[in-house]
Amino acid sequence: MAPRLIEKPHAIIAQIPCLSDNYGWLIHDRENGTTAAIDTPDADAINQVLEAQGWDLTLILNTHWHMDHTGGNLALKDKWGCTIIGPAAEGEKLPGLDRPVQEADQIALGAISAVVIETPGHTLGHCVYYFADCAAAFVGDSLFSLGCGRVFEGTHEQMWHSLLRLRALPDETEIYCAHEYSLGNGRFALSIDPDNRTLQKRMADIEALRADDLPTIPTKLAIEKAANPFLRADDGILQKTLSMKGQSAETVFAHIRQSKDRF
Ligand code: ZN
Ligand code: FE
Repeated sequence: MAPRLIEKPHAIIAQIPCLSDNYGWLIHDRENGTTAAIDTPDADAINQVLEAQGWDLTLILNTHWHMDHTGGNLALKDKWGCTIIGPAAEGEKLPGLDRPVQEADQIALGAISAVVIETPGHTLGHCVYYFADCAAAFVGDSLFSLGCGRVFEGTHEQMWHSLLRLRALPDETEIYCAHEYSLGNGRFALSIDPDNRTLQKRMADIEALRADDLPTIPTKLAIEKAANPFLRADDGILQKTLSMKGQSAETVFAHIRQSKDRF
């Protein structure tokens, strides 16, 4: 897969395949040229795109401390002198952190800005950067297409509430997650929710894209709300399919997440 550019009214987003299944992301403000990297899975791959586009890296926005999200921080800072922003709760674990942020903090690029949404669960400090002007949410390892991140540090209850925060964004929001996991996620989702038409359709699209070695990301929130079982733990229809009707969303979510861990 080669890097590709996604054009937005005020910005250009670059999607950069990295490592085995990560995506690095750049968002470049057309007005003043500010460029931010969301996570740094591979400094060399990110540098190649920056150089090809003639962009200078201004900011790094880390979603969480895992190495496949921060491994390129120091090399990129060394080369570009960029400012590294990341969750205050993971301060000591983020290489080169300059500006710790928390819930509702704003990050201005040029004409566009991001707001920080705290989404603990995968890690305790995990956060999402939501660019309302571009209808784009950079969600790291919280939400994936047809899946969600593993619950490593937080509780299932925390993760469910983090996903509810993302589910409350506008339907047209594009979800820029950090991994190409859609095919495996879809196989699991169909195993527990085989009659879901939106899921069947999304999975057919994913299979066609992957057969052509094309990315399935970004995905649209509206599709995920209908097709992703991890966003539907409180949905009566899915609960009925799982024989869990009337149980709490937290319990249903934990059941789905643990089933996926064993799948
Ligand atoms: Zn991670
Ligand atoms: Fe990751």
